[in-house]
Amino acid sequence: MDCITQEKGDILSVRFPNYFRTCNFSCPYCIADLHSIDHEWKYEENYHKIIQHLVSLPFSLNVRLGPAGEFFLSKSLIKGAECLSHSKNVISVNLLTNLSFSPAQYDKFFERVNKSKIAIVASFHPTEVKDRKTWMKTACYMQEEFDFSVVLVAYPPLIKKLPVIKEALNNLGIEVAIQGLIGKYNEREYPFAYTSEEKMLLRKICYSRHDYEFWIEAKKPGLCNAGYKSIFVDIATGNVLSCGMGNAFELGNLFSGNGIKLNDGPRPCMNKTCLCDTENLNVVTFEQHYRKTGLNFHKYEYKFAEKAKEFPLLDEWEISY
Ligand code: SF4
Ligand code: SF4
Repeated sequence: MDCITQEKGDILSVRFPNYFRTCNFSCPYCIADLHSIDHEWKYEENYHKIIQHLVSLPFSLNVRLGPAGEFFLSKSLIKGAECLSHSKNVISVNLLTNLSFSPAQYDKFFERVNKSKIAIVASFHPTEVKDRKTWMKTACYMQEEFDFSVVLVAYPPLIKKLPVIKEALNNLGIEVAIQGLIGKYNEREYPFAYTSEEKMLLRKICYSRHDYEFWIEAKKPGLCNAGYKSIFVDIATGNVLSCGMGNAFELGNLFSGNGIKLNDGPRPCMNKTCLCDTENLNVVTFEQHYRKTGLNFHKYEYKFAEKAKEFPLLDEWEISY
């Protein structure tokens, strides 16, 4: 048998980008294509239709909404998160923000949302944040209210500043992930162009060996759970794919009414890299070595950390990964 149909009780990760390409920042390394295309958001109707389909699926879902632009600039996007957060089959909803609003504004955004299911990942963009103190205060508010983490981008001109920013956030109890740059800087293609000096620095501050291998070293993925424990929903068509990274399997269409068919197990990845931050958590190597600590998809721990205290060769950075 090649595929399995929906089975109650399975936990499925869903990545559902919205392609809402409006943002109040202009980061030099942005890959959301904010300025070169038509800004009108074409998918509002599809967005709500797909959410209605997701809440009726017979799976328990961990949903990641977005990102393209800034999620909290759209009331409609927030409404979708609200609907998911009140649905019985939804375990978690991960949202990404540049944290440019005040705590009072975020309170208002979350007025009708079931906050116990929400995890927030904030991206800190040093070139755009003018008032760092205020940003840090908002980060503390988020840390108190949600399962919260921060991501920083390893943009070459900023790399040397990252350890200080990370330390400041860690001192507030906030976990930080360092994401590789995807795209060009000075005519060089990243993450492939990091120098060995940059890699040495990044190795020290990456959240995990996994992040370092996939985001900085652009590791070739092996067996992957995409399509088996995880799906990607195309907002334009309602198509359900194993992942959003190309060379994916079609698993059904949410608008067709015929449900979706999942793969019956992990399959080898057909791509050379998997640079997307949530997609690469689908690889089997990840689940063999790490476990999530809560709702936030950027927070997880190395399974063998305790044992490594006794056997140093079991350390995350010593093993073959
Ligand atoms: S905050 Fe995100 S979406 Fe907005 S410009 Fe920066 S990287 Fe792009
Ligand atoms: S490793 Fe990444 S690109 Fe490959 S199948 Fe899995 S999610 Fe898709």
